[in-house]
Amino acid sequence: MRTVVAKFGGTSLADAGQFRKIRQIVKADPDRRFLVASAPGKRFADDIKVTDLLLACFEKADAGLPFDGELARIRDRYQSILQELGLDFPLDAEIAGLSEHLASAPDREFTASRGEYLCARILAQYLGFTFVDPAWCICFDANGDLDMGMTKRALGASLKPLKNAVIAGFYGADEDGRIRTFSRGGSDITGSLAACAIGADLYENWTDVPGLLAADPRIIRKPRTVDFLSYRELRTLSYMGASVIHSDAVLPASDLGIPINIRNTDNPSDPGTMIVRKLPKGQTKKPVIGVAGMTGVSVIQVEKVMVSDGSGFSAIMLDILKQRCLPFEQCLTGIDTITLVIRNDLLNPCKDDLMDEIRRELNPDFLGLKENLSVIAVVGEKSTEDSSANVRVLEALTSAGVEICTINQGAGKLNLLIGVPEEKYRDAIKAIYATIEEDKENHI
Ligand code: ASP
Repeated sequence: MRTVVAKFGGTSLADAGQFRKIRQIVKADPDRRFLVASAPGKRFADDIKVTDLLLACFEKADAGLPFDGELARIRDRYQSILQELGLDFPLDAEIAGLSEHLASAPDREFTASRGEYLCARILAQYLGFTFVDPAWCICFDANGDLDMGMTKRALGASLKPLKNAVIAGFYGADEDGRIRTFSRGGSDITGSLAACAIGADLYENWTDVPGLLAADPRIIRKPRTVDFLSYRELRTLSYMGASVIHSDAVLPASDLGIPINIRNTDNPSDPGTMIVRKLPKGQTKKPVIGVAGMTGVSVIQVEKVMVSDGSGFSAIMLDILKQRCLPFEQCLTGIDTITLVIRNDLLNPCKDDLMDEIRRELNPDFLGLKENLSVIAVVGEKSTEDSSANVRVLEALTSAGVEICTINQGAGKLNLLIGVPEEKYRDAIKAIYATIEEDKENHI
């Protein structure tokens, strides 16, 4: 018998109808023994996710304001699911407990985690599966970082004896028993950890899209759904904003080579996107898997004659960033130049100060700052093996009148990273997509 871990996202649990779809999906394959549940998400465009309602409760409680309105909305969301599914569940007692917590010493992470806690308990009851509370087996350290070794052991020990289970996503607890959450969308990480802890054959990630899209659908109408890609390609695309799965969810599954399958709850017969270490025999994939990007970055350019003479200039530059705990997206060094790409939200609070420090410490011949840029990643392990795709991408940008501010391709040849002015970001994505797909019809 195979073992499949299936994670269901917020829209897949948004109402009773979605719970019924999950039951069908689980019944259709008895290998789907371990499920991970997110909190109920949006039922329609203007709806509010339960996690956001919980956070709104916390903000109000923390400010000493009444939070009853938001709490009542949360109760109603669960009540309508329970009522339609005909389940007898102690919802009022749970909500009363949460209300008491909020009124006494409210904790942000505990409050945020209650969406998954309640949802997983209800799903477990509905399916007749065991409920597993990750507070017992997803272990964080005192700083709120995941303790991977301990989690693998504790989660494996909790799950292995069970025939089947529903685990709440998104949270765990530290050594003191305090609830800790991952960043938003973190139930994906829980799913990957569960798959890793029990050595699953497959990690399914059920969501509301057909799979990973080759480009942002807000820019490209009906982009291609990627059928196969590697973990490295997925990690890059999701880091760069392709939002199908949390970027930190890739590592635990990829460590053990567990394939990740992105599936659509509304269309379960669709094979979705398969993320693998190696393509199955006979499968080929497109050289360029997809294109993604992030806006809101700046470029710092430092020039000094003899930068590359081994005097430690680059090391001093990186040390300045390290001392400030300021991460960078890219660091390009050339003859007598260093170029740093940094996110605006991190740079802006310390921009002037940082520029002064660079001037003071490095005494550069030239120091420049270009703001309002975006970085685009053209991703595909195969595409960069021969340079024709790179050439086509750069030609397409030039023909579209997009200034190329930075170019970066490491020896790993996984992706080509290109910095372009923010106002040209959409044009750049369209030009690149058109050239990689040879399709000019799909622009929005
Ligand atoms: N419910 C949390 C969120 O909205 C976590 C998750 O859905 O994975 O971010």
